[in-house]
Amino acid sequence: MIDIGDKKFSLFIEEEKVLAAVKTIAEQLNRDFKGKPLLFVSVLNGSFMFTADLLKNINLNNAEVEFVKTSSYEGVSSAGNVDQLIGLNRSLTGRNVVILEDIVDTGNTLDRIYKLVQQQNPDKIKVATLFMKPDVYKKNIRLDYVGMEIENKFIVGYGLDYNGWGRNLKDVYQLKE
Ligand code: 5GP
Ligand code: MG
Repeated sequence: MIDIGDKKFSLFIEEEKVLAAVKTIAEQLNRDFKGKPLLFVSVLNGSFMFTADLLKNINLNNAEVEFVKTSSYEGVSSAGNVDQLIGLNRSLTGRNVVILEDIVDTGNTLDRIYKLVQQQNPDKIKVATLFMKPDVYKKNIRLDYVGMEIENKFIVGYGLDYNGWGRNLKDVYQLKE
């Protein structure tokens, strides 16, 4: 049991198991994209650790990675908030893109990112997420590569945070209720 901020968390998934799931995703990608160029779009902040370990297990010669963040800013028109992807330095047009997410919960975040990626007319878009919560996911976007399905409880560690804390933890912890 550990304390993070005002909450208590208990050990949920050990690093070894997380790394095995990451490796499995890498093997699937190595197989599916053999001989093809590929551009990973890693969604910060939560995906940094997943991205690092995944890429160490990717053996494709033509793999690139970009790190993005999403932000919504107040538009000058009455349209209100406009989403944008920050940090993308390469054109996605005609590319094979694999979006890397740490976790998909309701899917709202993924839906926004997917649409922003789609606007740039890539050839293919695939989605890889380390964790997903099947009980709450309510979008139709296909999750092509899923590391682990978990129950609908809040987790931290391995890049995922609680109020900014806990990203450094090697293992994954679950909120104690
Ligand atoms: P969604 O938009 O799919 O509901 O939620 C996705 C985002 O919410 C993730 O990118 C992540 O930032 C955050 N999130 C969802 N579930 C969890 C969780 O269990 N733990 C942490 N640390 N973040 C979560
Ligand atoms: Mg995230």
